[in-house]
Amino acid sequence: MKRKDRQKPFSLEEQIEWIAVAFVLALTVRCFVVEAYQIPTGSMAPTLYGRHYQVTCEDCDSAFSLRLDEGVPLSLAFDCPVCGANLSESVARVRNRGGDRILVSKNLYMFRPPRRWDIFVFKSPEPGHENMNFVKRLIGMPGERIEIRNGRIFVDGLIARKPPRVQRALWQNVYDGLHESHAQDYWLTRGSWEVANKGLLLRDPSLGTQTVEFDRPILDDYAYNSGMGQNFVPDLWVGGHVRIETDNGEFSAALWADSDTWRATWRPAGFAVEVQLRLNERLLAERRVPDDGTSDFDFFLSSVDGLVEVGLNGSTAIELDTKITTDDTPLYTSACGVFFQGSGSQMLVSQIEIKRDTYFRADLARSDESLGRPFVAEVPENHYFGLGDNSPISRDSRQWGVIPEGNVLGKAFFVFWPIPRIGPVF
Ligand SMILES: [Zn+2]
Repeated sequence: MKRKDRQKPFSLEEQIEWIAVAFVLALTVRCFVVEAYQIPTGSMAPTLYGRHYQVTCEDCDSAFSLRLDEGVPLSLAFDCPVCGANLSESVARVRNRGGDRILVSKNLYMFRPPRRWDIFVFKSPEPGHENMNFVKRLIGMPGERIEIRNGRIFVDGLIARKPPRVQRALWQNVYDGLHESHAQDYWLTRGSWEVANKGLLLRDPSLGTQTVEFDRPILDDYAYNSGMGQNFVPDLWVGGHVRIETDNGEFSAALWADSDTWRATWRPAGFAVEVQLRLNERLLAERRVPDDGTSDFDFFLSSVDGLVEVGLNGSTAIELDTKITTDDTPLYTSACGVFFQGSGSQMLVSQIEIKRDTYFRADLARSDESLGRPFVAEVPENHYFGLGDNSPISRDSRQWGVIPEGNVLGKAFFVFWPIPRIGPVF
């Protein structure tokens, strides 16, 4: 009986279904008409690499990239961005590598308009250079007033906040405590804080609240450019793991920029953790989060694009939108940093990571600090404004202005070569 069924010709219903499937498939394929490009320069690093040296630190075995542009000699006169080893002293393995090869959707923009933060490819808007293709991040949409101020992007006076997946891609590593060999050089320990047991240990809680401070300037530095950091970055992320030995302990992490200090506190309270957020010691939010009562948890505090978040065990416990505008944002940050505080109990802070946001410089021509004035651009209708993620060396809309809609070629969405770089791009 079953066999007989199978031999029957397709019913009209089945034929319609197949036609529908074929139609959807054709549309899908059209959506993914792609072209491959190779990235020549490092203006989008570290999101996309141009031709580069791959350097492997002999101390911690981590590999990172250094740009290989015309006229830029290989200089190893700086510290390993992962472990802090001085690379001019240690032996590093160096390999010559080509630029990332990316896939670009040529007709996605027929189905939806370009969006802010897309990585897009376009023909150069400079007269006489139309056969050159550029890849940048889309920052300004038609009709908008774009302002670059303090490393951040403002649209019509309001902060432009990156979507979470773009933010994850744009965080840059400042400190990674998984590599311990040079931790001493990074922390200013006071009271009974010490670098020990693969982290920071508060040994004697009897001395009251004690502070340990990250002891390096947090600049818009790129390992890829071998240095060149000039501006203090106000948007930071700090996280790790803390183990508090007794019930009356309290742990704080703080991020500060200029005169503003965000301080988050985690206090074990039975089968819960009390989480608090303060700005300049004024309590702004608090929450009691149920926990298994072990006084042993992951934490994070981040402040980026005016959004402050306090995390516990990978989830956001407190979120505060400060809705910053150009009026309440300084032109530049004169200092910034990270510190921890502990009291009431012995505690160990480990797996510490510090990250900074990508810092868009207001003025490349000065090639120094983004002091003095913001960069302002009016984007006309049918035009876009694009910037490179590697702001210190990127030539982009800050120099040659806006990009006509007709020059846009497509949206970059995937790195397919070299193998260690394979993955989607955001
Ligand atoms: Zn290293």
